[in-house]
Amino acid sequence: MERENLFRQIDEADALAFLQSLIQINSVNPPGAERAVAEAIKQRLSGTDLQLQLDEVAERRTNLLVSRPAAGAPEASAKERKTLVFSGHFDTVPVGDVKWKHPAFAGVQVGDRLYGRGATDMKSGVAAMVLALECMAKANIKLAGNLLFMGTVGEEVDCLGAREAVKKGQIDHATAIVVGEPTSNQVVIAHKGALWLEVTMFGKTAHGSMPEHGINAIQAVNRFITALNEYRFQFEIHPVLGNSTINIGMIRGGVSPNVVPDKCSVTIDIRTVPGQDHQAIVAEITQLAKRASESVSAGFQVDIRNDLACVHTSADHPFIKTAIRTHESCFQQKSSPRGVNYYTDASVYQPHLKGIPVLIYGPGEPGLAHQPDEWVDVAKYLDAIRFYMALALDYLQVAGDGPSDN
Ligand SMILES: [Zn+2]
Repeated sequence: MERENLFRQIDEADALAFLQSLIQINSVNPPGAERAVAEAIKQRLSGTDLQLQLDEVAERRTNLLVSRPAAGAPEASAKERKTLVFSGHFDTVPVGDVKWKHPAFAGVQVGDRLYGRGATDMKSGVAAMVLALECMAKANIKLAGNLLFMGTVGEEVDCLGAREAVKKGQIDHATAIVVGEPTSNQVVIAHKGALWLEVTMFGKTAHGSMPEHGINAIQAVNRFITALNEYRFQFEIHPVLGNSTINIGMIRGGVSPNVVPDKCSVTIDIRTVPGQDHQAIVAEITQLAKRASESVSAGFQVDIRNDLACVHTSADHPFIKTAIRTHESCFQQKSSPRGVNYYTDASVYQPHLKGIPVLIYGPGEPGLAHQPDEWVDVAKYLDAIRFYMALALDYLQVAGDGPSDN
């Protein structure tokens, strides 16, 4: 009955006002400046017994770690308990050039929807996780395991905050992670990896009227792209994530029509599925680039611009089974685990904490992330608070309730 009692503690108007206040803080990345978000949350929780730790990872860019240690656990044994980590990022993508119907940093509510940059991705997830912790602290729920919230900077660009958290060992004792990215409150167990490679060809400049005296770097890149289009990467279609993909996203080269270009670069975005090895892909691309460059006597270079692992947890993992049961019992709704196309901070966490189960579950709408007039459904936001609390109870168990089966 802890669950019903806890659900009654949620002050819906206050929860909405809290989310609005986070949307009203501009934390567009670049530049980020997420410190204000971290401080607003710290301020909010300062009256509770939650442990709060700000961590400035760059100028005006601050991670926040919130923890509620297991009840009655001596410091030494706390790390042997289960530890559930709620994970969210404080930055948002820019507003973009398209005019918004509702101001991006106001948090306007229209009917069932709350509008604003970050409403979906992912200040609603962050606010719901924070309020779940606050509610449990205020109700003085004694959990048999540790509950943490790891709020990070920089997810939208390079997962800077998550990398810092890993470097400092801040979530090393985690036994399960929930990422509150937008899933429309559905159970998500996988996302693809991302590997961005920039291939640069170096030629030799000459007057455009005498191309035979130069080496054309654009021609070299052209050969590379032709080879790439014909190349078949080895991978197995993943039951949840489907195919690996390649997008040729950017090309840069040349200074003038009458000059033989001596430099041209192309950047490709490869989305990978479990089983693909990023290092092996870099080696294959390097071979393609080498052959293309040699065919026109150009030089070449391959740079890794982004390298994020895919994330996958088996639907049969006990933690995922618990999450499905929690979801179904909270909302009387069947749940079948699925995958999403975006990447998350778990790309940093899962390879570091080998084998750790990761659940992606948040109130935002996946199709609205990074869009103008981004919104979150208010009812889903409130449901997410309920789900996070129920999952903490089901997975960590209330102290004294005996061992759990997961
Ligand atoms: Zn996000």
